[in-house]
Amino acid sequence: MIQVPRGTADVLPGEIELWQYIENAARDICRRYNYAEIRTPVFEHTELFQRGVGETTDIVEKEMYTFTDRGDRSLTLRPEGTASTVRSYVENKMFGLANQPVKLYYIGQMFRYERPQAGRMRQFTQFGVEAIGSHDPAIDAETIALAMRLYEELGLKNLHVELNSLGDAESRQAHRDALVKHFTPHIAEFCADCQSRLARNPLRILDCKKDAGNELMKTAPVILDYLNEESSTYFEKVKQHLDNLGIAYNVNPNLVRGLDYYTHTAFEIMEHGIGAVSTICGGGRYNGLVEQVGGNDMPGIGFAMSIERVLLALKTQGIELPIQQGVECFVIGMGDEAESKAFQLLDQLRAGGLSADKDFMGRKMKAQLKAADRLQAKAVVIIGEDELARKAAMVKNMASGEQQEVPFDALIAHVQKICGK
Ligand code: ATP
Ligand code: MG
Repeated sequence: MIQVPRGTADVLPGEIELWQYIENAARDICRRYNYAEIRTPVFEHTELFQRGVGETTDIVEKEMYTFTDRGDRSLTLRPEGTASTVRSYVENKMFGLANQPVKLYYIGQMFRYERPQAGRMRQFTQFGVEAIGSHDPAIDAETIALAMRLYEELGLKNLHVELNSLGDAESRQAHRDALVKHFTPHIAEFCADCQSRLARNPLRILDCKKDAGNELMKTAPVILDYLNEESSTYFEKVKQHLDNLGIAYNVNPNLVRGLDYYTHTAFEIMEHGIGAVSTICGGGRYNGLVEQVGGNDMPGIGFAMSIERVLLALKTQGIELPIQQGVECFVIGMGDEAESKAFQLLDQLRAGGLSADKDFMGRKMKAQLKAADRLQAKAVVIIGEDELARKAAMVKNMASGEQQEVPFDALIAHVQKICGK
């Protein structure tokens, strides 16, 4: 028997409603915050991610699904959404649009070769936003607020924002020099990855899971001490905006993103008690990225979260989303003629905006009533030969138990009323 590939999953009816609910909530929030949807291809030229995510990242070094197509091109299933969004922004010259900054969101499948576990899949679905073209610290706060608003509206609690600033290029260079100086004399104590990071990208040493316990990690120079005046002013303003919006945060100088084009604001939103995985959202400012991908020097900020981790957080917190399952109305016809009338009325009920169904399995009356019950129908419409002769149907309001004969021409309105429409 062929099964789904490791790290992937089917989402079946019964669970898909949760996904749709979360995705709809995200879309609605983006509408309110004036972010427009963008859909980019699921695969891109490999070079985009090498440049846009970074050669020294785990994603590019270990996690990409890269393949050569029949035309001998190297293509990669997208591991994240920012690089593609920025590529599209440049390619479609969105910097020339009248409305700036350009505020975009995406919901789509991403692919990373990882060790699968709860909340860590090889194919997963990310919701992310990007605001490109503004240097205003308020937009940093806006993206954080947008994510927090979504969680709030889904009913999630016990979340907090971890916040840091990586400063601008000058601040980062000063910090980088200090890190090299700090780690160089003792680099032999560190893992092979860290040894190669020292020259290529020393900031990522701080991110290392293997060497997390080393004393030198705790005493390592902290980026916040190396922010120049402009960078620290920027960070202060982001914090003021968050204060103003009532969003609590914890300044965490160890929160790093190891790439040169990540600048200033970096944040993660954490959920307490989710188990092995506690980050549900990660984001930050990337003032060097647009240029890296071939555009002009344009600032940007964004975040991404996976629906998988949101679902995990909801599950951990025992939150049940208000999902509507089943149908609003079930129609039953007794005998051939009545059944064909029932089929016609069913179509009209659907045209009238109701979710409605009938039996297609040749079941007996009793079994059909059971089916109506299983589907949690609010109204059941029954047409027997007698009713048919009177051009009417028996309508049962399942909540009140009330039963009433209703002429065919008043039926749709009657059922709509029972269903609160
Ligand atoms: P981690 O340290 O957990 O691997 P990351 O730094 O790789 O996270 P990002 O690249 O910042 O994560 O992705 C942003 C968000 O996407 C994460 O906060 C998480 O919600 C989600 N995410 C990342 N990788 C996966 C995955 N393999 N499966 C499900 N969700 C994921
Ligand atoms: Mg990862």
